[in-house]
Amino acid sequence: MTTGPLIARKLPPILSLLDSCTHMNQLKQIHAHIIIQGLSRSNFTGSRLIAFCAVSPYASIDHAKLIFAQIQEPSIFTWNSMIRGLSMSSNPKEAIVFYSQLLCKNTQPNNFTFPFVIKACTEAAAVETGLLLHNHVIKLGLELDAYVLSSLIHMYASGGKIDAAIKLFAEASEEEVVSWNAMIDGYVKSRDLQSARSIFDRMQQKDVVSWNTMMNGYANFGLIEEALILFDKNPKKNTVSWNAMIAGYTKCGDVENARKFFDQMPKRDVISWNSMLACYAQSSRSNEALNLFKQMLSHDIRPTEATVVSVLSACAHLGALDQGKWVHNYIDREKVRLNAILGTALLDMYVKCGNLGSAVKVFEILKEKDVLAWNTMIAGFAMNGYAEKAMHLFVQMHDMGFKPDDLTFVGMLSACSHAGWVDDGCRILKSMCDDYGIEPKVEHYGCVIDLLGRAGLLDEAIELISSMPMEPNASAWGALLGGCRIHGDVELGEWVGRRLIELEPHHSGRYVLLSNIYAAANRWEDAKRVRNMMKARGVAKSPGWSMIEIKGIVHQFLASDRMHHESEAIYAMLNEITKRLRTEGGYEPDTKQVLFDIGEEEKEHALSVHSEKLAIAFGFLHLGSDEVIRIVKNLRVCGDCHSVTKMISRVYKREIVVRDRNRFHHFKDGVCSCMDYW
Ligand code: ZN
Ligand code: ZN
Repeated sequence: MTTGPLIARKLPPILSLLDSCTHMNQLKQIHAHIIIQGLSRSNFTGSRLIAFCAVSPYASIDHAKLIFAQIQEPSIFTWNSMIRGLSMSSNPKEAIVFYSQLLCKNTQPNNFTFPFVIKACTEAAAVETGLLLHNHVIKLGLELDAYVLSSLIHMYASGGKIDAAIKLFAEASEEEVVSWNAMIDGYVKSRDLQSARSIFDRMQQKDVVSWNTMMNGYANFGLIEEALILFDKNPKKNTVSWNAMIAGYTKCGDVENARKFFDQMPKRDVISWNSMLACYAQSSRSNEALNLFKQMLSHDIRPTEATVVSVLSACAHLGALDQGKWVHNYIDREKVRLNAILGTALLDMYVKCGNLGSAVKVFEILKEKDVLAWNTMIAGFAMNGYAEKAMHLFVQMHDMGFKPDDLTFVGMLSACSHAGWVDDGCRILKSMCDDYGIEPKVEHYGCVIDLLGRAGLLDEAIELISSMPMEPNASAWGALLGGCRIHGDVELGEWVGRRLIELEPHHSGRYVLLSNIYAAANRWEDAKRVRNMMKARGVAKSPGWSMIEIKGIVHQFLASDRMHHESEAIYAMLNEITKRLRTEGGYEPDTKQVLFDIGEEEKEHALSVHSEKLAIAFGFLHLGSDEVIRIVKNLRVCGDCHSVTKMISRVYKREIVVRDRNRFHHFKDGVCSCMDYW
């Protein structure tokens, strides 16, 4: 539907260019010509421009607002365009604001105004305002208009006022397909699939929207089998139907089938590409996401905000800083607006790539900050060991009137834990409940147990674990076991370790930790026994990997990996490094350590090599001597790799940043930012 009747008149040639406009820059050129040709004061020209800016995926609602502000007496067509655009924007409440401004200007809304302003109420969950609008509709005698009626039905049904929706629906005739569709969608939104289906089945004249809405309902609830049956039966399949199936498979975590649908669909739009990208990004198949993104660009599909968010999340996961920076440049170049979602995705990418300087810059220029943005920045400081900065930000967040949520506190507590701030951690845990009314969850307790354990306050850690109002989970016990390991408390470690192995018999890390505790106390027989138990139960160590990005390509290495095509050069480089560390750094691999304290990564004998060493050697081969080597690893760094990396940073004067499962290690001049406390 359009936003109102346009009087048939010949368009000035410059305006007819709008139809082929696919970029904001083109729009600005057209706008400039309009000003030069003296057409900018014309109401008609302005309203056409706004109509384009408000609804085209290639323009922006902000630009529409600018043009709108310059129009002296906007026509109802222009108002409707603005309201329509705003109702589809990330802030639909603004459409309601525009509607009330329209009333103040004594302009009368028409049957094209209401569907969009009512939609805005639905999106913004403002049912009370919706009731007012319903009154206006009755006053103006528009309640029989099919589009107005269907928007009201939809608003009531999706807002949980199903009786009101049914009452209105009873007035709709058989032929009013939009009203039937609204009722189906309303039921779907209020999670009543059965009622939705019964309306769908009763419908005489289903259009493609009816089919897609019902199918989408099933897909969204993960009922992919039902969705597939409808998909196959649907005589009017279009791109939306295919996209719904991709989204449905994504929801079920079935990447293969999502890709199958993506490959087979006859025609793809930007939403198809975005859905497939989101599917890869959400399933942590980040390399595939980046490959698909490259394909998308080579097909000349212009990325949208959703594309950029998925790509940034893939970069964050891989620690692919170069590609992340490319996306950032793209955002700047194309003037994509940094709203809260996109800004936070960008922030998260810099944080997870260990580039805190850029993260802080993004955080500072981000105008629309929500709690998630603050949480991301706080967690970023925490992971990188900057507890003071996290604390400072927390105070600032508070001063600016943002209410911290439980994720904020996970960030704060882990900041304390990584920095060893015992008193602050305990104080924050108490203050959560006392000052902010947030009940600490098991992960909050876990952080503090970890903190106490690392600080050697094992008695206090046990006291806390036994006073928790909930059953301690494996990660709480794991935190305590970590503390036992660091402080060599074999007796307690043995007790906790056995308990943990019972709780999680398939988690290799638990066996490794207990065996290492025995090994450190020279109880070799016990260490061996735990390892044998692990083998006998068929528990395999999780395959450890490390990744490094070189010139926009992410290379992944496994332990003792020889698959890489430059394998020979990598091992030669590693030999050279080890030799130099022996002569200049005094490196002496501790055989006891190598054989028994072997970390979580696969490493069965002294000659095998952990993956991050291969990645570092690869970095030496391909990066300039002043470039930072950045590695991402899926497990914790082991003791041997940690001390070797420190030594490399001193002997070679190289900065190395390693992100492990828990935190960042910034190695420089022989020191690690974690202060050997990880
Ligand atoms: Zn290692
Ligand atoms: Zn470290």
